[in-house]
Amino acid sequence: MAMYANIIIDISHEKLDKTFQYRIPAKLQGQLTVGMQVEVPFGNGASKRTGYVVELTDTAEYEISKLKEITEIVEGSIAIEVQLIALAAWMRKNYGATMNHALKTVLPIKQKREEKQQRLVCLALPKETAQEQLQLFEKKHNAARARLLSHLIEQNPLPYEEVTRKLNITASVIRVMEEMGILTISTKRTYRSPFGEMKQNGKRLILNQEQIQVVEHIWEDFTRGFFHTYLLCGVTGSGKTAVYIELIERVVKSGRQAIVLIPEIALTYQTVVRFYQRFGERVSILNSKMSQGERYDQFERAKNGALDVMIGPRSALFTPFSNLGIIIMDEEHETSYKSETIPRYHARETAIERARMAGASVVLGSATPSIDSYYNAQIGNYKLLTLEKRIEEKPLPRCYTIDLREELKQGNRSILSEKLQELMEQRLQDQQQTILFINRRGLAGFVSCRACGGVMKCPHCDVSLSQHNNGRLVCHYCGYTRQMPKVCPECDSPYISGFKAGTQKIEQIVQKRFPQAKVLRMDFDTTRNKGGHEKILSAFANHEADILVGTQMIVKGHDFPNVTLVGVLAADLSLHLSDYHAPERTFQLITQAAGRAGRGKLPGEVVIQTYSPDHYAIALAKKQDYRKFYETEIAYRELMHYPPCGHMLVMLAASRDEMTAYLSIELLAKKIRQAKESGRLLGLQMIGPAEASVAKVKDIYRKVLYFKHEDYSVLVQIKDVLEQFVNRHREFRDVVIQFDFDPMNGF
Ligand code: ADP
Ligand code: ZN
Ligand code: ZN
Repeated sequence: MAMYANIIIDISHEKLDKTFQYRIPAKLQGQLTVGMQVEVPFGNGASKRTGYVVELTDTAEYEISKLKEITEIVEGSIAIEVQLIALAAWMRKNYGATMNHALKTVLPIKQKREEKQQRLVCLALPKETAQEQLQLFEKKHNAARARLLSHLIEQNPLPYEEVTRKLNITASVIRVMEEMGILTISTKRTYRSPFGEMKQNGKRLILNQEQIQVVEHIWEDFTRGFFHTYLLCGVTGSGKTAVYIELIERVVKSGRQAIVLIPEIALTYQTVVRFYQRFGERVSILNSKMSQGERYDQFERAKNGALDVMIGPRSALFTPFSNLGIIIMDEEHETSYKSETIPRYHARETAIERARMAGASVVLGSATPSIDSYYNAQIGNYKLLTLEKRIEEKPLPRCYTIDLREELKQGNRSILSEKLQELMEQRLQDQQQTILFINRRGLAGFVSCRACGGVMKCPHCDVSLSQHNNGRLVCHYCGYTRQMPKVCPECDSPYISGFKAGTQKIEQIVQKRFPQAKVLRMDFDTTRNKGGHEKILSAFANHEADILVGTQMIVKGHDFPNVTLVGVLAADLSLHLSDYHAPERTFQLITQAAGRAGRGKLPGEVVIQTYSPDHYAIALAKKQDYRKFYETEIAYRELMHYPPCGHMLVMLAASRDEMTAYLSIELLAKKIRQAKESGRLLGLQMIGPAEASVAKVKDIYRKVLYFKHEDYSVLVQIKDVLEQFVNRHREFRDVVIQFDFDPMNGF
């Protein structure tokens, strides 16, 4: 039983790392849990303060006689912080991090900054009286007064600045009207509204039968106090967002709050408007371009009850709503839901844990659910709900696959196949739009043959080898390496090389082939500026261009009614990621890209160019057969013990000195090997050590070691053992050790 508790006294400061240790008195033994609010003596005068328990431990960090005792538990403490701190503790345990890192992820950090004061002009009369007064002013030709009053009747209150600048009303007119008792001036602390000048129009959609069924199902559970995790599997354009909005509205009416997670690249103006129209100023958004201060503002508003709905990427999950009722996670298959900084949490699992603590429902939505989630739905952890039809029964687009090997044989060396060129030509004639999509995510340097489509793979791991600058090919799982071959080992063709094609290059090729067309490009370079993203999207939506060339950013949740053709230029790029998720990513990207075609009145077509038309991920994406894809993929994962059929842990050792990194990871590998030999850790597989996929970053060398086990908790144990071992031994002082569970992007 824990003897000591680490406590933070003031959670709203940068000094979260400042914890104080207290002794747990006998009367409180066994009663304390992490997150609990307690009263403690503090400082020299030993005045009483409240704090939060962030850690329970058996190790005293100071001389025991100097430790003070916790006075008591603060009864009935319902502060939202209690839940968030408990969540941080859960994250620390399951993903590996210090408590400090976990707390910083979960609690908003207050920063000293100027509060923004805003002066408001408020109407002090009931509306009818104001109308009468307005008529009086008009009769008397008091133009300025009439102008201000009529605007105030429209919108109350008005910002003072707007009245003087936009309406051209002088301060003295305002003062006179204030003296007449028509208006008052108030100051209030303002929060920068993330919406700017957006207007609410209150238009609502009438849900169709399928949508209603989904809503009613979840709502019935909710009202009966059953808070499940639902997987809403709905084809692109089936109206998932409308379902979310309806559910949230009901939850909010019942007095509870909602969090909506959306991957940042899908968080477009279009989406935000839809929420704003229903919830007005009671909804807020977070995004990564916001400053810490802006973020803190939004969290404060949530805590003070000024908000019902928070929309944002991963971090919106930690919005301090005190009575959270539902968490929606749209595009739940997106890899950006996995954090790439410590703690490397997955927002899906963390959302489910937060919902469990709060007694809230979780809805995961996608047209192409992650294999993980679909598996969880199959084994009964989640409830599966579906939307099978597109809104207004719009047909799914027609798909063609083009075999690029055949194109080469026919003498076409362009990146645009004959079929694609032909269809693009048609679109230009018919004044319809085309999207060309290149999946850059795969550009990790795999090597393929343009004649037979073969890819150089690791003989031990079934992942693609990556080409390093020194020309050698390397496996990032096990460290296997080989020389770059001169000809393809399969077909002896000399056309074997690293696959490279950037958006800029494609833009040039397209422009050259179709000189009359207007081409837009959207990629990391063209969207770097604030708003660059929106600008390109809205230009394309307004048909200011015929063709949009882009990376995976363009395949997310946008609605372009005039797009009737989508070309996937090299579907294989993501197929050869050196990662077991490759087929899953490929299926998702093709399906999502295809989902952009034919969303308006006209039906759509999709051209998938590939070297491996028979690969199941591509063939099944072409047929839009998710079910079959899942079955094929899960069989493979079973066979390989990849998640979700088993779990993985990867440990990174990073050091400025390559030898140190190497020796440290060897030492840790040895420790686990010994434990295995002594018969413990049954069923554990250890793979490596090997170089990380990015072997060196800024002169820091990186080595990885993989573990696989059926049981997640065994991997947690391994992490704990290794972590403690590292903390206790001086050999590790010049090396940084990090953990990643069920890795998605790897180190
Ligand atoms: P998804 O999120 O499944 O891709 P959306 O919710 O974006 O689908 O819906 C696709 C389009 O259909 C949107 O333009 C939306 O406004 C419209 N829509 C959704 N539900 C309905 C409905 N019940 N009636 C009419 N239009 C709808
Ligand atoms: Zn070949
Ligand atoms: Zn290998």
